Amino acid sequence: MNKIEVRQATKVFGKNPKLGLELLKKGLSKKEIKRKAGLNVGVSDASFHVEAGEIFVIMGLSGSGKSTLVRLLNRLIEPTSGSVLIDGEEITRMNVKDLRRVRRQKISMVFQGFALFPHRTILENTLYGLEIQGIEKNERQKRALEALEQVGLKGYETSMPDQLSGGMQQRVGLARALASGTDILLMDEAFSALDPLIRKEMQDQLLDLQTNMHKTIVFITHDLDEALRIGDRIALMKDGRIVQIGSPEEILINPANDYVEHFVEDVDMSKVITAGHIMSRADAMQVDRGPRVALQLMKDAGLSSLFTVDRSKKFLGVIDADDAAEAVKKGKTCLEIVKPIHPVTVDTLLADLFEDISNASVPLPVVDEQGKLRGLVRRGAIINALAGSYPSLTRSGVKQS
Ligand code: ADP
Ligand code: MG
Repeated sequence: MNKIEVRQATKVFGKNPKLGLELLKKGLSKKEIKRKAGLNVGVSDASFHVEAGEIFVIMGLSGSGKSTLVRLLNRLIEPTSGSVLIDGEEITRMNVKDLRRVRRQKISMVFQGFALFPHRTILENTLYGLEIQGIEKNERQKRALEALEQVGLKGYETSMPDQLSGGMQQRVGLARALASGTDILLMDEAFSALDPLIRKEMQDQLLDLQTNMHKTIVFITHDLDEALRIGDRIALMKDGRIVQIGSPEEILINPANDYVEHFVEDVDMSKVITAGHIMSRADAMQVDRGPRVALQLMKDAGLSSLFTVDRSKKFLGVIDADDAAEAVKKGKTCLEIVKPIHPVTVDTLLADLFEDISNASVPLPVVDEQGKLRGLVRRGAIINALAGSYPSLTRSGVKQS
């Protein structure tokens, strides 16, 4: 069963929305309806479903109807026509009491700009929603503490919002939603106000959290790069309509119409695809295993060199077969023969990989923020990606370890 299902939802703002529906049926555009009847079409005839555990991105330019659409999902905005089902229950027919129950138990929302209370501590801000729900004090403390830990804010419980950076404040917004324990998260441009680096960190963190949480996330953005990075599927909106739904790959490679094409045509793929997208699994050896083991592993894998890591999987460098053989003879350790080479990070863009790979004699090691080895990029993968074939341009590609 679909977690969320939207059937032909339309929202017309203004005094006589039914007139708007009639005009839409006659085929008038959003612009024409605005001009003729003074009515604002927010969303027009939107149908889609979201599966449990999916990150569903709604993307489009400002004014295309994203915020209206996401607010139809919890009936913060009433549709003019059409229906919305959550876990198979038609919430668009529910009375106030049932609607409130569904909102509390199933759906939370994360907004842009955090909406933190300035005079409450981080902990108090996090458990705010639970307080409203009348959850008992110990229980709400426990859930809020857990949520703060999940988003990496353990230790900041008694801080005040203005003591935290923008990125950290956005994390509190996320923690608040997590503490509520709902299956569904609606995130309306939640990361859009953050500067690019922090924003990427937040995207990564959301993906990391999602691998354990399996929430159903509807994520709104006007940023194609963000949509590609985090979406399992993307719905593209224009003038209130959904003009395409597909995987990131489908959207890029097979744009459904001129509008979508226009959206992606300016995208230089070398600035979208990262090392994380095209890396493959890297064999590596823990350095204290010694040169004999190194030689054996190379032999088994048919390699002439091997990446080495320390005990915490941190990338150290590369060992050559010749050096390893020499080391065995002379009684040296692996540590002495590791050649340091410069790794790239999972976020490194294809555009920035060219130079590295043309100078490299071995595949490029790919590390995460902590310097841990996550994979490797071969020259062939870079060339394929440039030629328009991106075998793993999916979330699992980014996440592969
Ligand atoms: P987005 O989030 O993609 O920027 P919105 O959903 O906020 O777009 O807006 C979609 C359209 O609906 C816009 O034309 C906007 O002006 C209109 N709209 C949104 N909210 C209202 C409202 N409360 N009253 C009238 N028009 C609205
Ligand atoms: Mg909006």
